[in-house]
Amino acid sequence: MVTSHESDHSVARFDVILSGGGLVGLTLGVALADAGLEVAIVDRLDPATVVDEPFDGRASAIARGSQHVLAATGVWAQAAEEAAPIYDIRVSDGRIGRRPSRLFVHFDADEFAEGPMGWIIENRMLRRALHARAHALPSLTLIAPASLDRAERRDEGVIASLSDGRKLHASLLVAAEGRNSPLRKSAGIPVTTWDYPQSGIVCTIYHAHDHAGTAHEHFLPSGPFAVLPLPDDEKGRHRSSIVWTEKRDLVPGFMALDDHAFAAEIQRRFGYGLGEIKVEGYRWSYPLSLMHAERYYDRRLVLVGDAAHGIHPIAGQGFNLGVRDVAALAECIVDAQRLGLDLGSDPVLARYQRWRRFDNVVMLATTDGLNRLFSNDLPPVRLARDLGMGLVNRFSPARRFFMRHAMGLVGDLPRLVRGERL
Ligand SMILES: Cc1cc2nc3c(=O)[nH]c(=O)nc-3n(C[C@H](O)[C@H](O)[C@H](O)COP(=O)(O)OP(=O)(O)OC[C@H]3O[C@@H](n4cnc5c(N)ncnc54)[C@H](O)[C@@H]3O)c2cc1C
Repeated sequence: MVTSHESDHSVARFDVILSGGGLVGLTLGVALADAGLEVAIVDRLDPATVVDEPFDGRASAIARGSQHVLAATGVWAQAAEEAAPIYDIRVSDGRIGRRPSRLFVHFDADEFAEGPMGWIIENRMLRRALHARAHALPSLTLIAPASLDRAERRDEGVIASLSDGRKLHASLLVAAEGRNSPLRKSAGIPVTTWDYPQSGIVCTIYHAHDHAGTAHEHFLPSGPFAVLPLPDDEKGRHRSSIVWTEKRDLVPGFMALDDHAFAAEIQRRFGYGLGEIKVEGYRWSYPLSLMHAERYYDRRLVLVGDAAHGIHPIAGQGFNLGVRDVAALAECIVDAQRLGLDLGSDPVLARYQRWRRFDNVVMLATTDGLNRLFSNDLPPVRLARDLGMGLVNRFSPARRFFMRHAMGLVGDLPRLVRGERL
């Protein structure tokens, strides 16, 4: 990878330009460059900043299908060292300060006989692994910090103008710019969107007992409370990552608590299953919303990841959807190149849209429905969902069905998701 900060006013030529080098943009850039394409990734943030702890406190659940993509593109070798495997998932319904309902769903990796059900990795560690892989790929150029300010999308190609005055040319421009994608807006692609009256509080907790690879999802009236296993720190302390969904207007009050009072609130919600909980260091909060683009492409422009869809983090699937976009789009582009087709032509981009739209819509609807079903305390709804969870727990084909979906291993799988090279 060539990392470039200096401006050069000639027009540099690539096969594909990506605007946005977040988790999804980097994954796509690596996949395409690994398959031999000339790729430029432009990001407005300094690469040194985005791997620092204060930048992003989230940890991501990596589904099995996403792990296959990261392994097939040479990223997983480094990421695996920082990832905690999930062997057990416990889903329960509860109220603050009370024991979780006894009707919980329990997913056990032994039932699937294929190793861990997924992994948890801190986003900054995944970014480090992606940057390291990108550095090793000579056909990938990361231009950062610089923003892509303007794009002229013509029949013969795209010319992108960057904030440092540089111009780039390619057959295809990819918007991997996150939810507020300027390229999506300038192309006039409409979106369906709504805000949840919730924010996600995120932090790392330290606890007395080993988590033994168990992830917990505890449904509380204000929203899901997830405790996700992380590898022990360098001092051997047991750690987990918290995603605490809370009513948005209460979040500033919780964020202002001192570490001791904040840890006590977590303990009140989660209990003592992991022993005494301590909190230190940074906390983050993210306003939650749903968003879906009405179409995923325009002339020589295509959307991936959060630029195309944003979902509730209830099932830890936002990045995983983005990785499945990456796998499908990379396959469409590489197949087109091998056939001598124009990479930015409508048929190539339409194939990608057909491939990804259904899976994304299903996940948007499922996560939205789950959040509505579980983020309330109405007695009849509570009874119905507890009975539903009890039934799913007793019926192993149902458990396997849900788990195969969450692992990203159903449907028409792109080659990378099957673990094959492009
Ligand atoms: C609380 C919370 C917990 C979550 N947990 C999980 C989880 O467990 N598992 C999971 O799969 N997903 C999870 N997600 C979702 C996941 O974090 C996102 O789906 C994912 O980070 C989206 O990545 P992205 O690269 O598409 O967008 P972003 O991360 O938003 O990156 C966009 C990038 O584009 C750059 N950019 C934007 N515009 C320009 C421009 N004009 N020029 C240059 N650069 C530009 C930005 O600087 C940024 O680097 C969670 C989300 C939240 C809020």
